[in-house]
Amino acid sequence: MRERQEVVICQSCGAALYRALDFGTDLEGNRGGDYCRDCFRNGAFIEPELDLEDMVERITPPGALGKMEEASFRNTVRGFLGNLARWHEESWTPLPATIAVVTDPDRGEPSP
Ligand SMILES: [Zn+2]
Repeated sequence: MRERQEVVICQSCGAALYRALDFGTDLEGNRGGDYCRDCFRNGAFIEPELDLEDMVERITPPGALGKMEEASFRNTVRGFLGNLARWHEESWTPLPATIAVVTDPDRGEPSP
């Protein structure tokens, strides 16, 4: 039986981050956070001037779709990206990408 697995997605380009290697790095070079290595490196966005339309453009495959399909594809991508932390307007706190369960060894497990 397969277990359901939650996958973290980059909060800039929406790429699924499966492995530690896929994550961007902070100032100390540690991998983690909310962004992928193609968007975020050494604690900063690689292309800080990029805007939402640029990202939509980047994700839309050039010439692979007809004019109508491309327009609807762009709308879908725009809607999807608009929910990510980097592109969300106004102040908005994204849901935690992962949930860490911390058990305190001194206290032990709570008894049922
Ligand atoms: Zn990314």
